[in-house]
Amino acid sequence: MANVTLRNVRKTYTGGFEAIKGVNVDVADGQFCVLVGPSGCGKSTLLRMVAGLETVTGGEIDIGGRVVNQIEPADRDIAMVFQNYALYPHMSVYNNMAYGLRNRGMAEAEVKTRVEEAARVLELAPMLERKPRQLSGGQRQRVAMGRAIVRQPKVFLFDEPLSNLDAKLRIAMRVEIRKLQRRLNTTSIYVTHDQLEAMTLADVLVVMNGGQVEQVGNPLAIYEKPATTFVASFIGAPPMNLMSTRADEIKSQLGGSATEAGILGIRPEDFVITDQTPAGGVALPLTVEAIERVGAETFVYGTRAQDEQRVAATPGELPPGEVIVRVPGTEAPAIGERIRVAAVRAK
Ligand code: ATP
Repeated sequence: MANVTLRNVRKTYTGGFEAIKGVNVDVADGQFCVLVGPSGCGKSTLLRMVAGLETVTGGEIDIGGRVVNQIEPADRDIAMVFQNYALYPHMSVYNNMAYGLRNRGMAEAEVKTRVEEAARVLELAPMLERKPRQLSGGQRQRVAMGRAIVRQPKVFLFDEPLSNLDAKLRIAMRVEIRKLQRRLNTTSIYVTHDQLEAMTLADVLVVMNGGQVEQVGNPLAIYEKPATTFVASFIGAPPMNLMSTRADEIKSQLGGSATEAGILGIRPEDFVITDQTPAGGVALPLTVEAIERVGAETFVYGTRAQDEQRVAATPGELPPGEVIVRVPGTEAPAIGERIRVAAVRAK
């Protein structure tokens, strides 16, 4: 087991592109750290630098108290799980898991013990003689995990390991990975662009954008108090409503915290449809433009009066003036209806 510390880590690719612009992250021993951010923000680059698959242009990567910048990947005591599994198609499940251990010259008896233990934990024991093509996607993913586990590394690195699975299996595997990590208590760094996956897996969430860290912390703390408008719109789906006009006034009414000077964020679930203005709350008149029913809940997309339009902040956000409100599935208003919503809880 080991902590992982990144100190002012930088990466400039050949050709001059600066993919990582000075990143500081501390992952304590046994913690599950998730790097999340949009495509191209540099999360794979960062993970590959920890793995030793990419050179480090500046700063230090420290694993278990040892700076590993110049250490070969094989000597870093890490194991990586990739999105494409990278299994050997001609080898059995058993041999896929045993391969790396044998390569290191481990005695066959110890190889057997480790592979059988990993197979038991991952519920692969009945499939040890099968070839990868005879497995489902989820089972292949488990073999890839098994290959990492048998090495008993100090650190697991995951590069979007679930992105090739269908939605249902993704959720099932997500739960399995978390249970497994808790049980093995191995320090882990996990890359994903899926904010829901990030929220549910992380002890420590690192939100990245443009080669930099936007915010680091406990996922729920980040959800509750995003530090920037980027984080506010990236974490949470649908995104947080960001409002600037008269924000100071609204803020003082709510006692809420603005993400940036003059911008107030209110989550869709923090609004209710009501004609009342709750004490210490804020009310907005809306015209309903669209309704999204997703079962137990419904998202209402409304536009606000011109003088209360929200400010354009970051990519992926809503058009100015639009507000999203989450209501119970049974409460949906009609399109075109004029409603009043109120925020009852401050962010
Ligand atoms: P995704 O979710 O799409 O995989 P990411 O956040 O993992 O994205 P990276 O793969 O780390 O992003 O890439 C970060 C940036 O560095 C991108 O703009 C990418 O185009 C660039 N990049 C990646 N590899 C190289 C390379 N070998 N040479 C030059 N630029 C690169």
